[in-house]
Amino acid sequence: MASCRLLRREFKTRRVCPSSGMLLRSLSAVDSGNWNLAKFLTTSTNLDDKNHQYDLVIVGGGIVGTATAQELSTRHPQLKLAILEKETELAAHQSGHNSGVIHAGIYYTPGSLKAKLCVKGLAMTYAYCDKHKIPYNKCGKLIVAVDPEEIPRLDNLMERGQQNGVKDLRMVGADEIKDIEPNCVGLKAIHSPHTGIIDWGLVTKHYGKQFESQGGRIYTDFNVSHFSLKAESKEGSTAGMTHPVEIKAGDKQNPVISSRFVVTCGGLHSDRLAEKSGCDPEPRIVPFRGEYLLLAPEKSDLVRGNIYPVPDPRFPFLGVHFTPRIDGSVWLGPNAVLAFKREGYGYTQFNLRDLADALSFRGLRKLAMRHLGYGLSEMYKGIYIRAQVKQLQRFVPSLRPQDVVRGPSGVRAQALDRDGQLVDDFVFDSGSSDLGCRVLHVRNAPSPAATSSLAIAEMVADHVEKQFSL
Ligand SMILES: Cc1cc2nc3c(=O)[nH]c(=O)nc-3n(C[C@H](O)[C@H](O)[C@H](O)COP(=O)(O)OP(=O)(O)OC[C@H]3O[C@@H](n4cnc5c(N)ncnc54)[C@H](O)[C@@H]3O)c2cc1C
Repeated sequence: MASCRLLRREFKTRRVCPSSGMLLRSLSAVDSGNWNLAKFLTTSTNLDDKNHQYDLVIVGGGIVGTATAQELSTRHPQLKLAILEKETELAAHQSGHNSGVIHAGIYYTPGSLKAKLCVKGLAMTYAYCDKHKIPYNKCGKLIVAVDPEEIPRLDNLMERGQQNGVKDLRMVGADEIKDIEPNCVGLKAIHSPHTGIIDWGLVTKHYGKQFESQGGRIYTDFNVSHFSLKAESKEGSTAGMTHPVEIKAGDKQNPVISSRFVVTCGGLHSDRLAEKSGCDPEPRIVPFRGEYLLLAPEKSDLVRGNIYPVPDPRFPFLGVHFTPRIDGSVWLGPNAVLAFKREGYGYTQFNLRDLADALSFRGLRKLAMRHLGYGLSEMYKGIYIRAQVKQLQRFVPSLRPQDVVRGPSGVRAQALDRDGQLVDDFVFDSGSSDLGCRVLHVRNAPSPAATSSLAIAEMVADHVEKQFSL
């Protein structure tokens, strides 16, 4: 099988897909209602459909996959679409294990997809939630400089945010910080009034429900293990076949799915899914766990909105922060430590293949050599709560170690190239073989991809329409 080429705007790669004759381009550089979760059980009722044959299949039932499925089913109601998800419900991984922040778009490089899609995604999220009565809280956010040396970086952030078109940003001084967050101290801060909080897992399930109501089908417990072309003539042509891509799960219970085209949105497994269709294994995914502390319920009035540090520009993570949750709890964190399993939510969760894959990858070794000190200090803070609390006390001095307990965690799918560079923007990838041409991979959808999900879905749908001539 011909190998696939990674398509990225950084590389300015362009080529023609032999099956569609189309030019492929990289797209990277990449209130309240009474919601009953049970309502969003994800098994489709469309069980009369016995032939399991689709026009387009989306692999991955996270927020990116479900948003894309919803967008495509809205645009093309005549198409038969399905989502395949390996877990028993949607949003089982990153989309259901995150900070729950609706980001405003301050941090990202002006002109990048991350910046554009976040600003657009925030507006689309609020409109969608208003329309469908999904609860959110526009509680705002402070990015606080507590050290004079952080002030130039804060000023740069302000400039970035303004260039990105983030609305109503203001620089505030020490007194106004206190007016906004009475328990917070700082020299200077950016106030973002439109930053909000939401349950992204609930949003994902809503997208899934909408998709089903528009005729889409969701297969859960379907772990995609194999993509192939039904049959190929000696010349490799698939002419005359209507649904040539076969998708199999690694078990006997699930049916073989046939599809004309496939989009993968596999999060922590996006590199492996790409490899399964003969595409480039790189960029590889390295799992970085983020561990949160939970503020004691009687202390939850310590913060009103989000309080974030000025981020260290060397890393893609935003630093430990105070985040009120839509359920009234307050999460503090997350740190960033290497996970010993792709979906490993604790230190005891270990997978030999995942760990061997990560450690044998030259990119991770290079990254580790560059940032060993940072990595070890993050692990130390993960193990010793007091160390994490000390960092948080820089912003809220009245926080005490006895006010927190260990909380949940999430695992970030961090794409890494072989030189150990963290891939910062969204990355899309497709192949040049007959099979590869029919599959589009969303390989890197890092934070704020939940905020950007509706905007990403529009972009993926545009790309799908062009690439697959829909
Ligand atoms: C700790 C943390 C905090 C974050 N905070 C925020 C935030 O506050 N705001 C924000 O906007 N973003 C945040 N993010 C980022 C955001 O959560 C992710 O960018 C987003 O959820 C990615 O969605 P996804 O659909 O690409 O991936 P996922 O949600 O991981 O979904 C991928 C899905 O693919 C499925 N899958 C994988 N392989 C297969 C297979 N072989 N067969 C079938 N199914 C498969 C998985 O089971 C999974 O359900 C955070 C992320 C983390 C980890």
